[in-house]
Amino acid sequence: MLCGALAGGMLSLYDAWREASNNGGQKAAEPFRIADNLYYVGANDTTSFLLTAPEGHILIDGGYPGTPSLILASIEKLGFDINDVKLILNTHPHLDHAGGLAELQKVSGAELWVSDNDAEIMEAGGAGSRFLGPLEFVSYLPVFRFPPPRVDERFSDRESVNVGSTELIANVTAGHTPGCTSWSFKVRDGERVLDVVLICGLTPPLSLSMGEYPEIRKDFEKSFKRLRSLKADIFLTPHARDFGRWPKYQNSLEAENPVDAFIDPEGYRKYIDEHEKRYRDAIGN
Ligand SMILES: [Zn+2]
Repeated sequence: MLCGALAGGMLSLYDAWREASNNGGQKAAEPFRIADNLYYVGANDTTSFLLTAPEGHILIDGGYPGTPSLILASIEKLGFDINDVKLILNTHPHLDHAGGLAELQKVSGAELWVSDNDAEIMEAGGAGSRFLGPLEFVSYLPVFRFPPPRVDERFSDRESVNVGSTELIANVTAGHTPGCTSWSFKVRDGERVLDVVLICGLTPPLSLSMGEYPEIRKDFEKSFKRLRSLKADIFLTPHARDFGRWPKYQNSLEAENPVDAFIDPEGYRKYIDEHEKRYRDAIGN
């Protein structure tokens, strides 16, 4: 009896864990235009962005392994064709942002470009990620792994990535992962040219508080400095709540110019401030 209950409990715990690793409880979210050729096509929590151009579209981030169906439905709902996606990019190779990339790559036939320092982790489906620092072996457990996509090209810090007239700059803001990439690019709104920054994860891995691998501190210091040097009229993040997807989208529905609802340079600075404080608290400095 007790054994059965225990086994049952463990089984449902395992199921819950499996479900979390498959789709993380993601739900469909309304896709929408942020500005110009930049669209939101992510789930309710994990974000994905589409940059469209006649020469081919760029898709950034793929949610959990179970999230692509939501992303594909969003792209279709906006009237775009997944077959026109020529390039897939990523912020960082964690289960919740890179989990769906293999599937999206298969469906679209697009190339995937990854930063030098994250490429190996990506190709290993998350194994070897240092987010648990000294407990690196944990990243080899199936529940933290994702279907490994094919990495077609690697890039390094400050390199630009182009599809036709769309150009993005790769800002390697390492720390959360060794090659964590914040993407900066420009969009037009009438006469205005707006700077967009999609910030990579800024949460310190567990290892930081445990004093592991000292170069990570240098990485974080550099990353905060770099992000502060970037101009951001519009900022985006790997998790939807962090950039205020819902309130901004709601405001955009009522705004005279919907783009205005997404302009938030103060939010960008505040986001960096908060994460830098969290980082300094973690290292006790
Ligand atoms: Zn992450």
